[in-house]
Amino acid sequence: MGACIVRGASVLKYDILIKSGHIVDGTGNPSTVMDVGIANGKVRGMGRSLSGDAGKVIDATGAVVCLGFIDLHNHTDLAALAYPRCESHIMQGITTSVVGNCGLAMAPINPEKLMLLQEYLAPFLPKGFDWGWNWRSAEEYWARIESQGSSMNMVAFFATLLRASPIRNPTRGPRKNPNTPRNLNTASNLTRGPRTTLSPNPFK
Ligand SMILES: [Zn+2]
Repeated sequence: MGACIVRGASVLKYDILIKSGHIVDGTGNPSTVMDVGIANGKVRGMGRSLSGDAGKVIDATGAVVCLGFIDLHNHTDLAALAYPRCESHIMQGITTSVVGNCGLAMAPINPEKLMLLQEYLAPFLPKGFDWGWNWRSAEEYWARIESQGSSMNMVAFFATLLRASPIRNPTRGPRKNPNTPRNLNTASNLTRGPRTTLSPNPFK
């Protein structure tokens, strides 16, 4: 079990070896004190006393070692470009966010109503960051996050909540303007395509 990692002249079995933590595996079983060996970003070994050299050894005595938490309602997608490391989540043990489920989202964008969407989102966006606003579809927005990289897994529902901000703002604007056949046609076009969009690395 475990891949060998060659680093300089030495051969390491693990990148990271977490020693003596209380392992909570999410199955409902009681925690068990074990070691966890990680190589190439994946768990490669678990046991009472793992052997082998590691690039980094973490003494987790007295601490819990568990799967990352999932935040079922969040807006990480609004901050992921400005803060790709997402420390405010990662430092709490949250590794996956479900975003866009209340309708507040960065995509899709109708270029004709971009300023209205920017006005609506402004209170929620980090200040002093140049967004570029060069995406239009949800897929294009994810592509931009993927090209930059993000420490969070994100699961998005960008096109499921009709008349919510991503659909309503690009068509009618945030104000209570009456709908028109043209607006409805625009909204209809925006909701085409996959109903659920997954970020590049969901549940990695
Ligand atoms: Zn929300």
